[in-house]
Formats: sequence, C-alpha cells, structure tokens
Amino acid sequence: MTAPVYNRVALIGLGLIAGSMAHAMRAAGLAGEIVGHARSPETRAIARELFCDRVTETAAEAVQGADLVVLCVPVGAMEAVAEEIGPHLAPGATITDVGSVKQAVIEAVQPHLPAGVHFIPGHPLAGTEYSGPRSGFATLFQNRWWLLTPLEGADPQATARLRRLLEGMGANVDEMEAKRHDLVLAVVSHTPHLIAYTMVGVADHLRRVTQEEVIKYSASGFRDFTRIAASDATMWRDVFLTNKDAVLDILGRFTEELFTLQRAIRMGDGEHLHAYFTRTRAIRRGIIEAGQDTSAPNFGRVAGGGEGSAGE
Ligand code: NAP
Repeated sequence: MTAPVYNRVALIGLGLIAGSMAHAMRAAGLAGEIVGHARSPETRAIARELFCDRVTETAAEAVQGADLVVLCVPVGAMEAVAEEIGPHLAPGATITDVGSVKQAVIEAVQPHLPAGVHFIPGHPLAGTEYSGPRSGFATLFQNRWWLLTPLEGADPQATARLRRLLEGMGANVDEMEAKRHDLVLAVVSHTPHLIAYTMVGVADHLRRVTQEEVIKYSASGFRDFTRIAASDATMWRDVFLTNKDAVLDILGRFTEELFTLQRAIRMGDGEHLHAYFTRTRAIRRGIIEAGQDTSAPNFGRVAGGGEGSAGE
C-alpha cells in the first residue's frame, strides 16, 4: 500500500469510469478521501454505498477542498460542470477529465477555470459496453493506456503527480497533443464504433432476417458488432458531435477503401483481396504483441459466452 497521492479526490459524474477509478484508488490507497457528485439521487446513493466516502448534492460542494478533481461526465456535459465548479476550486488544485475527445473538452472547460489551478486533460483507453455506478471495477485500467494532453506551459510537477495516481491504478501513461489524440482515437475507436452501429442498424432493417437467423447464428463476427453497438448512447452521441472533423476525415478514407474492396469483389480480383487481408492480419498480430489483446481464439471466450476485453 503506497501513501495517498492526493488527500481528497472529487469525482464529478459517478458512472463506469468514475466508479472504476474509485475502486482502483481504494484498492491501492491512492486517495485520502473520495468525494462524489452525480446529478441523480439514485446514482449518488449507489456510489455512496459502493465506492465514495461522501457524496454531495451539487458539484460545487464536491470540489471544495479537493486537491484533485476528475470530470467523469459525458463530453457534452463538461462545460456546464466546469462553469459550476470553477469558482469553488481550491487554489493549486489539479483538474483533469476522462472525456473520449480532447480538443472540444479543452475548449469547453478551460475558459471557466480560475488562475492557479492545473488543468491536465486526460483519457483512459479502457471501458466496457456497460455504464452507470454499478458497472465499475478496480482492474479496468490494468495495462491500459491513459493518454494525457497537457496544455502548453503545464506545470511538470502537477503532471507528474497525476501520472503517479494513474500508474498506481495500473495504467500506462503517455502524453500527446490534443488534436493528435482526437485523430488517433477517430481511427482506433470512434469510427470503428460508428461502423458497428451501422452494421447492427443494417441487420435491424432486415427485420425478416433479424427476427430469427441473426440472433440464432450470431456466434460469428456480428456478435462482436452488437456488443460494441450496445455502448452508451449519450456518450457516443457526444463523441461524434465533438470529434466531427477527425471522424469525417477517417470515414472518408474508410469509404474509399470500401469501394476499392467492393470493386475487387465485383471484378473477381482475388489477388487484391488476399494481399489486403494479409496486411490487416499483421496488424492484429501487432496488437497482441503489444499486450493490448489476448491471442486466445475467439477473444478467449469459453463456449456459449464469456467476455473479451471491450470498450474503447
Ligand atoms: P456513465 O457510466 O454513463 O456515467 C456518466 C455519469 O455522468 C453518471 O453518473 C451521470 O449521472 C453523470 N452525468 C451525465 N450527464 C450529466 C450532466 N448533464 N450533468 C451532471 N452529471 C451528468 O459514463 P462513463 O462510461 O463513465 O463515461 C464518462 C466519461 O468517460 C465520458 O466523457 C466518456 O466519454 C468517457 N469515457 C468512457 C469510456 C467508456 O468506454 N465508457 C472510456 C473512456 C472514457 P446520473 O447517473 O445521475 O445520470
């Protein structure tokens, strides 16, 4: 057990990510006290029972005296929360967030912060398709990347302290520029989610088929699409509304590639298809070698179910 990295951590929004942070901080003794706020009394009551030392009715109350504040609400709710807590932040406090998009969060939050607090935006590349205060667990961040996008002139000591907390929860921390983060995430997470939503939508339109066959035979690729497409609707709506440019850029490239493959199928160009699939197979091997997924067949699922690593 290490000494607490922060004396009082305030979590605003108490769902999957905040809950997982609280469980992980408790398990490793990283925070002296964990205070939380969510908008609904139900969520606050569950969080109080499961992982918060104290919950408050307003976000403003929660951040008072906290040396770390973590914004864990959907990206579209960040600005209103920042506006409310800005005047109540303790001098010298660090404020971070876990939003899946970085440039838009910076633009929404920064104008509301007083001088003398350290704003260090962040994003854990970890999640599941579940949400809410009961969905968190202590090992969510183990061996997952946590990207920080510090602003120009950020205080190196404040950043190093935050890194210690994140590493204490098992994460691997890296730093990058916010714009670059948004482009990378559009490739590895946001556009793949949109494609999954689309594929499940297509199946849904073919009602005649979905009624029986799709459900019955979904032990193949479609099942993985349905898991991704079950992700939280509010969170993903906000991701696409706020990472618009990068997602549209990647979608444009995706469409071009799709047309090339479509043409190869139409023309019976097996050579093109084989070469393409050989290249993509190598990318999967790279991900396994980097320790970001399991090499077990079918994501390590046992017959009839089980859970591979999921989420972002
Ligand atoms: P979640 O489980 O749905 O929890 C969201 C929390 O935010 C809930 O406690 C909710 O309160 C609160 N909230 C929602 N709208 C609010 C508003 N307008 N004002 C105040 N509080 C509000 O979400 P999550 O999965 O933890 O995601 C939280 C953040 O993490 C998002 O920004 C998301 O982009 C990011 N993220 C998610 C994942 C993932 O895979 N899930 C991964 C990395 C990062 P109530 O329960 O009272 O409604």
